[in-house]
Amino acid sequence: MAYEYDDQNIFSKILRGEIPNATVLETEHTLAFNDITPQAPDHVLVIPKGPYVCYDHFADAASDAEIVDFSRAVGEVCRMLDVKPGEGGQGYRMIANSGENGVQEVQHLHIHLLAGRWLGRMLQKPRTD
Ligand code: 5GP
Repeated sequence: MAYEYDDQNIFSKILRGEIPNATVLETEHTLAFNDITPQAPDHVLVIPKGPYVCYDHFADAASDAEIVDFSRAVGEVCRMLDVKPGEGGQGYRMIANSGENGVQEVQHLHIHLLAGRWLGRMLQKPRTD
């Protein structure tokens, strides 16, 4: 089944300028902005400008230029936040929630970039219900 992109999702509206955002970085193919409900002192969302639902969709369908731009933008945001472990920063976590089991709320690919505090272990224990 092919992905169907719904352009009424909130990040699509942000990209069209219909909803304001606190932009951290904008490049030709990528936008990075602060999450409205931050879960860490630094909580930046990095999204491609193209209509991709989740990461595997992007990896399959985006152009090389979009993929390179997105990846470099993530690195640039890490530099801007001063969190790069190789350069004396305290590190960060990247999360790309996808689909139902990944508990993805907004159906436009986004990377959560979390930093500024110790983030604990990666996953909670599974539900028992
Ligand atoms: P998901 O659960 O899909 O991985 O994450 C969606 C994220 O989008 C959440 O962390 C949520 O706080 C954020 N979010 C939802 N609506 C808005 C909005 O209008 N503006 C911004 N900046 N972030 C939003």
